Amino acid sequence: MIGTVIKSTGSWYLVREHETGKLHRCRLRGKFKNQGLKVSNPLAVGDQVEFTVEEQTEGAGVIHHIEPRRNYIIRRSVHKAEHAHIVAANLDLAMLVVTLVSPATSFGFIDRFLVTAEAYSIPVKLIFNKIDLYDADLTEYQEQIRKMYKRTGYDSLRCSAETGEGIAEVDAELDGKVTLLSGHSGVGKSTLINALVPDLDLKTSEISGFSDKGVHTTTFAEMLEVRPGTYLIDTPGIKELGLVDIPPTQLAHFFPEMRALLNQCRYHNCRHLQEPGCAVREAVDAGKIALPRYDSYLSMMSGEDNRH
Ligand code: GDP
Ligand code: ZN
Repeated sequence: MIGTVIKSTGSWYLVREHETGKLHRCRLRGKFKNQGLKVSNPLAVGDQVEFTVEEQTEGAGVIHHIEPRRNYIIRRSVHKAEHAHIVAANLDLAMLVVTLVSPATSFGFIDRFLVTAEAYSIPVKLIFNKIDLYDADLTEYQEQIRKMYKRTGYDSLRCSAETGEGIAEVDAELDGKVTLLSGHSGVGKSTLINALVPDLDLKTSEISGFSDKGVHTTTFAEMLEVRPGTYLIDTPGIKELGLVDIPPTQLAHFFPEMRALLNQCRYHNCRHLQEPGCAVREAVDAGKIALPRYDSYLSMMSGEDNRH
């Protein structure tokens, strides 16, 4: 049988059978090479697997094959590099929920997320939540920020998970995709998931019954069904996806508005800081690259926010 891993506890995996939509508790058979990755978990949410269910094991299945991943996101441990694990695999889209008030999401946070998604080649949409709290000034400010990101190639949506405004548009964007939902705590990610996923309480209890049999459940992602063919991956306990190891000389490649200029710098190894003849600096001075974006670039270059 073929299915998708929708939850992992480290020793058990919950797999949704493609043909019937039925959930199976599965174990992994044997050692898996992990497709060359140095990570602690062989399987992650979103992985496509082949498995068999043997009658005598009371509905428990055995996974014997993992399909190659289209993409994946890895989370590194702050303390030990070898404790990296795959958060999720085979994503069509990553949504970052952001807010301008209570709390205000920083540009640094947004841009680190965007760089991470660029590095993994995963398309991103920004979701501005809590718009019911915006007055005219904040709405105007929000439009400026949305335009700034739009110019860079990132589309955004606006909604209120509380009043329901804009939720239909967010839902339409999810259609037919596997979408990772992320956001700083307090931005309304849980409220949004509740608004998007029907019968969430029921599904959560079904899944948590399964979780009790494992450990570390809170640090693993889980895939929730919005409707057949449309799924959301929640990453409870993960505040921020770790920045992959990007060498400083490569960082600008993950800022789309800088990437286009890189072969115009005088020095091929330009870091776009103070070098003469730097096309990126010139674009910043000419207002073609937004200052907050360049500031995020500088702080990532300085390693100031290399906490993860
Ligand atoms: P999470 O930490 O991102 O999962 O955030 P929660 O979903 O727990 O929401 C944090 C707080 O923001 C809660 O008090 C929610 O009721 C509130 N909240 C969430 N979405 C909205 C919204 O669209 N508008 C307003 N006014 N409050 C919201
Ligand atoms: Zn340069």
